[in-house]
Amino acid sequence: MHFSDEWKQEALAVIASVREYLGLQKLRGMHTIPCASPSVTVRENTLPYSAAKNPAHLPANLKQTQLQAIREDIGDCRRCRLHSSRKNIVFGVGNPDARLVFVGEGPGADEDVQGEPFVGKAGQLLTRIIEAIKLQRADVYIANVVKCRPPGNRDPQDDEIQTCIPFLKKQLEVIQPHIICALGRIATRALLNTQQSITTLRGRFHELPNGIKVMPTYHPSFLLRYPEKKREAWEDMQKVQKEYLQSA
Ligand code: URA
Repeated sequence: MHFSDEWKQEALAVIASVREYLGLQKLRGMHTIPCASPSVTVRENTLPYSAAKNPAHLPANLKQTQLQAIREDIGDCRRCRLHSSRKNIVFGVGNPDARLVFVGEGPGADEDVQGEPFVGKAGQLLTRIIEAIKLQRADVYIANVVKCRPPGNRDPQDDEIQTCIPFLKKQLEVIQPHIICALGRIATRALLNTQQSITTLRGRFHELPNGIKVMPTYHPSFLLRYPEKKREAWEDMQKVQKEYLQSA
């Protein structure tokens, strides 16, 4: 049987979009596709471009689509008590293909109103920190451990963190950054799954099982209160900058 080039192109395009659709369904948690018997199992290799093995190979626009799927999965979340006082869910912002991700603890009052992480006073300091290592906010990705504001800016509680952190982990699976900069005690403990103090952990890289390097450093809000700690934070950021440049 002879197929024209045009037909082959069309067939390849259809296959690519079916793969993309299956990849998205898998990310949304669907493992079987209902159909006339027998049902079809979504296997790892149905993810586009071998994404299951190496999501870093996903093109940026597909990563954006996958982040969007995670946001849709969160929906109008009521999974924990924080939903009752929040104004907006603060999902995350920035480059879906970022090699450097900053993770804070949870939205504050300004972030709650604007729906974007790190836009208040601490956020302005974070922007200056990012620019000090010769990057822009748009180059990196910024997110939090919990996506709703804890009332009165209290620390997020353990059960709130356990409920929300799977979404951050999914975001990180899609973005596949080289480095995560954990801002403060809550983010550091949640990401490294430890109870050690930030002073013990900061200033050196900790490698996650998936190879991502985590640099814990002081939270910008802490630096606003204790400016004398900025020198140590700057030393941490210089290590981040060096690793970032070496990994390019
Ligand atoms: N503090 C955080 O930890 N996250 C924000 O988004 C803002 C302030």
